[in-house]
Amino acid sequence: MSDFGPDDLPIRDDLRGRTPYGAPQLDVPVALNTNENPFPPSERLVEALGSAVSDAARGLNRYPDRDAVRLREALARYLGHGLDADRVWAANGSNEVLQQILQVFGGPGRTAMGFEPSYSMHPVITEVTGTRWITAERGADFRIDPDRAEELIAEHRPDVLFLTSPNNPTGTALPLETIARLAAAAPGMVVVDEAYAEFRREGTPSALTLLPDHPRLIVSRTMSKAFALAGARLGYLAAHPAVVRALQLVRLPYHLSAVTQAVALTALEFSDELLAGVKQLREERDALVEWLRAQGFSVADSDANFVLFGEFEDRGAVFRGMLENGVLIREVGPPRWLRATVGTPEEMSAFREALLRVTA
Ligand SMILES: *Cc1c(COP(=O)(O)O)cnc(C)c1O
Repeated sequence: MSDFGPDDLPIRDDLRGRTPYGAPQLDVPVALNTNENPFPPSERLVEALGSAVSDAARGLNRYPDRDAVRLREALARYLGHGLDADRVWAANGSNEVLQQILQVFGGPGRTAMGFEPSYSMHPVITEVTGTRWITAERGADFRIDPDRAEELIAEHRPDVLFLTSPNNPTGTALPLETIARLAAAAPGMVVVDEAYAEFRREGTPSALTLLPDHPRLIVSRTMSKAFALAGARLGYLAAHPAVVRALQLVRLPYHLSAVTQAVALTALEFSDELLAGVKQLREERDALVEWLRAQGFSVADSDANFVLFGEFEDRGAVFRGMLENGVLIREVGPPRWLRATVGTPEEMSAFREALLRVTA
């Protein structure tokens, strides 16, 4: 009976033949494949988390605050830009935030559009919510040509437009003027996925500054990357209060556990410490870009905690060679390129050594 699979069940026709999301989770000495933050929480933070979780544990017989108000207030304070709890929403990872957005603004008969190469979960979440995905292409240097993008928006009139900045897997940030133009041109909702916002280079602005002028603009963020909290699952967004109220139509009651809320609130109290780690990673990233270029590789400008580099005749061979040397990177994005997350200084020297050995 072992070959009896999901397709043998009466699943939705549009799910037949699909494979689940699956970045490899391998046990390797140096894991640079999912853009996690390499720094585990400090002992001080671990202790604070422990006592916050203990406090939450004493009330676990009750449902948590359905609207996570204290957490949303703290997230709004962290974001600044005059935001408040009414303009912030949180869920279990920004993937759940994006799913809720598509449940409200997408669905059967509706469309979402994004500029590829970009985050592979955008089309997955789109299609799984019954929304049709429309692929647009990024141009030279993985940028979005605003004239071409405006034409595509006029032609397809997507209900949801995804703009990822800084983009994954290329690291490319969008100029604010491009986001403003496309937000004005788009007839539906515009989601700027800023999962890597804290890693932006000096002078790269956030789309948060555009919110007051664009009631259909949503900026999504996550604690998975900069806050080194991928395991806790906390994503959030900032938008017009009407958007937040609309999302409450589809969120499951009590979707954010009391433990998750306590963990996220505590981590936010340690913002300064966590953002110091981000600063170190940004410096490590800039050094990595410089080193790769000095070795003759092409590297996309990166405003994130990873770099996309190439170009390789056979990137699969390089990927496997790196893995044999204990370094797991990611075979993703355009065919001749590979992506590597920025790790600790020790991990990066292992990466450099392995890459030189594999490409010698
Ligand atoms: C990593 C990543 C996310 C984060 O997802 P979470 O569910 O918050 O862990 C969102 N968007 C992009 C573009 C990412 O790369």
